[in-house]
Amino acid sequence: MLTYVGKGYTSGFVENYDRVADRLNAGEEDIELVDGPDDICEGLLCESHAHCFNEGVVKRDETARVSVSVLLGETLAAGQRLQATPDFLAKMRLAFAAGDIRQACRGCQWNRLCDRIAASGFAGVKIGEQPEPQAGLRPRPTPAHASRFSRQP
Ligand code: SF4
Repeated sequence: MLTYVGKGYTSGFVENYDRVADRLNAGEEDIELVDGPDDICEGLLCESHAHCFNEGVVKRDETARVSVSVLLGETLAAGQRLQATPDFLAKMRLAFAAGDIRQACRGCQWNRLCDRIAASGFAGVKIGEQPEPQAGLRPRPTPAHASRFSRQP
């Protein structure tokens, strides 16, 4: 979500993700944490190659949950809601660019794209605004050789 620029697995996935982005940008809804596929996955679930229920996806979600829990200083769980405020998104993007919440990105097929987006200062993101660059902070790519998980943008 932090690096969504309108690219994804299929045109249906992107169209659905655009609708989710519009809802969040309109400030109509919070982000609800769920177990398993979420609203973003909807555009892919009808595809024969949908990977949303794979074990690797579950591991990636769990890794992301732990990373963000550490950042926010609270244990996040399914059912919890987060407000996608500009401050919240800016905090998340700064942590993302610093590599602090990228453990789940290891082995992800979108890793290079997300590296580039973070390095660009999140140019072109479709959810929220680009954060102000901080002096001395350089985006760190995820390690090339790390344990493998799998999940979506
Ligand atoms: S898990 Fe993949 S798509 Fe999601 S932010 Fe990390 S590299 Fe990007």
